[in-house]
Amino acid sequence: MKIDYRVDRAAAVISFANPPVNGLSQAVRAGISTALERAKTDPSVRAIVLIGAGGLFSAGADIREFGTAASTAEPTLRQLIDLVETSAKPVIAAIAGTCLGGGLELVMAAHYRVASADAKLGLPEVKLGLLPGAGGTQRLPRLVGVEQALDMIVTGEPVAATGLAHTALLDHVVNGDPLAGAVDLAASAEVATRPPPRTRDIPLDQSNLAALSQAARARLTTQRPLLPAPMRAVDAIEAAGRPFDEGLAIERRAFLELVETPESKGFRHAFFAERAAGKVDGIPPSTPLRPLDQAAVIGAGTMGAGIAVALLDAGIPLWLVEADQTGLDRGRARIAGIYDGQVKKGKLTGNERDRRLALLRPTVSYETIGQADVVIEAVFESMEVKRGVFIALDQVMKPGAILATNTSTLNVDAIAGFTRRPADVLGLHFFSPANVMRLLEVVRGRATAPEVLATALALGKTLRKVAVVSGVCDGFIGNRMLEGYTKQAWYLVEEGATPHQIDLAMESFGLAMGPFRVGDLVGHDVSLSIRQRRRAERPGYLCSTLPDKLCQLGRLGQKTGAGWYDYAEGPRRPAPSAVVEELIIAHRAEIGVSPRRIDDSEVVDRLVFALVNEGARILEEGIAARASDIDVVYLTGYGFPPARGGPMFYADQVGLDRVLRRVREFARNPHGDPDFWTPAPLLERLGESGGRSWLDPR
Ligand code: NAD
Repeated sequence: MKIDYRVDRAAAVISFANPPVNGLSQAVRAGISTALERAKTDPSVRAIVLIGAGGLFSAGADIREFGTAASTAEPTLRQLIDLVETSAKPVIAAIAGTCLGGGLELVMAAHYRVASADAKLGLPEVKLGLLPGAGGTQRLPRLVGVEQALDMIVTGEPVAATGLAHTALLDHVVNGDPLAGAVDLAASAEVATRPPPRTRDIPLDQSNLAALSQAARARLTTQRPLLPAPMRAVDAIEAAGRPFDEGLAIERRAFLELVETPESKGFRHAFFAERAAGKVDGIPPSTPLRPLDQAAVIGAGTMGAGIAVALLDAGIPLWLVEADQTGLDRGRARIAGIYDGQVKKGKLTGNERDRRLALLRPTVSYETIGQADVVIEAVFESMEVKRGVFIALDQVMKPGAILATNTSTLNVDAIAGFTRRPADVLGLHFFSPANVMRLLEVVRGRATAPEVLATALALGKTLRKVAVVSGVCDGFIGNRMLEGYTKQAWYLVEEGATPHQIDLAMESFGLAMGPFRVGDLVGHDVSLSIRQRRRAERPGYLCSTLPDKLCQLGRLGQKTGAGWYDYAEGPRRPAPSAVVEELIIAHRAEIGVSPRRIDDSEVVDRLVFALVNEGARILEEGIAARASDIDVVYLTGYGFPPARGGPMFYADQVGLDRVLRRVREFARNPHGDPDFWTPAPLLERLGESGGRSWLDPR
């Protein structure tokens, strides 16, 4: 942390540095406040310029201080804001780069603002289940108008300075460094000849305040789940119609209430869990990394094409290998198709598409790819096929090349065993579509070398993925947990629920999509082949045969135009199906079940606690290093709602004793698989010891 004070043409330039994002830590707040006092008493100073060092203003609060005494230690952000706003010498904020949250609240209290054209300004607090708590909801509407303030605060999305140039938020928008412009403004007659204008004194244009607030509320009520923070933000913005201090008090009360909501706790947990996932035991930051300059992808099907696009997007040149020329042509066309789609939607320019495609080197020869630093295999899910590929790779790849498999269910250690270099082998489990989904499960094999793992994590960052390390087991973290979740969804239908009821219950809980809609999207043939393999491999394997019957009807999901739902009106409009209803009735009769009424709360508890019980096993077995890693997998790969913080965090919020009680209740239900609800030993221990949590089990 560093505060710099110098005087330039009668302006005190106060620059603050707190890498990486100039977070407003206690030390920064104290430093700025001392510098402001100095400027106040410095007779050579007529105006003050406040600027963040390193090309950005500030991303807001210092997240490293969250939850510590330092975050609320004096001077608080609100005190600093007061000091700025009440300064008798005009304060000019010079804004470059990022100016978010508390950073923007601070500059709104300055008397003038000069921003570089590419600066981004925003109040993203709702994304943590909060609202701006240092006057943001009161000052922003005065500066940009009620409509834009509602938009910025309720969505939390930042806006470019050019998009705010016409508002009173920015006095000048300049190209490049805003400092010179700010010092010029400080020396100008405009600033010298009038008392410092205060945002709080700007009268709010109230003509549309009530109507706009009402409309914003109406929009929010259609969202599922209904989150408290955006609603409270609208209330606070509407309160800007009152005298300033009253509005501030209303904002403050709402902020303090929101901090305590489970939703905000969930969002904040999700935020920190993602940051923690990058830290892996035995992989210190000093671990040497291998180069990642060129890559190869083997197999250009659904996954291979998506993975190739992810690599090309990151500017990594790659060889694409298929079994024969026909497969290669198809694969190349698939990749070009993904880019064409982006060009059509205006997300990418034609030139950029061509530049990325130029990095692609299709080949059917393994001989040519020997110099790749990393190879990602995405061929058919068959041990025999993978064996052939890895034996071939072992022969041609240069020493030190990283050999990764994208297998979903096969044993990574067995795959590593096909080579003479198991230390260089690991799993890189992408999610479909691989160029879009943020999650990357990095599967650490028994023999995977630390630098191979560290390099894979670095690759994850380069691809802008969230990498979570998993040990080797069937399904890794995500799919292993999902199996029980899906099984319970089918059992619930056998017992009396409908697919539609279950999907709605889970969507109201906050999931992006319920299990039946997901099944229709993914296609039922994949899970059918997995069930067939499980039945063959594991005697006594229990699972409903209802989804098998659905497949027998040829209803494989959206790709066949019908699955659990009918899709006569397209993929976005699933309609409950009379055929499926009949199928379910006949199935219940065949297995001798008379349906009962099932509450939505039973649906949610059975599905979520199925995840949690398996998650507890995964945690205890060390497949996941920490409960929050499991949460990250579900938040970034399975559409689990961030406001719930992930399944493990949610269970903690419910109370592990209550979760255990519920699991035991379900175990008394004789339907389906009698062993399914055996509590995981870790859940049993924590649940019985009252009040303990797996996020902090000691
Ligand atoms: P896919 O059938 O779409 O593609 C496989 C491709 O591999 C085909 O194009 C095929 O021609 C090619 N291929 C087969 N043998 C080859 C060989 N010897 N050399 C080069 N190419 C060969 O399959 P997919 O869905 O892309 O799955 C690929 C892998 O990714 C599987 O291991 C699967 O379990 C895994 N995976 C799939 C998903 C998913 O959602 N589809 C998600 C995660 C992981």
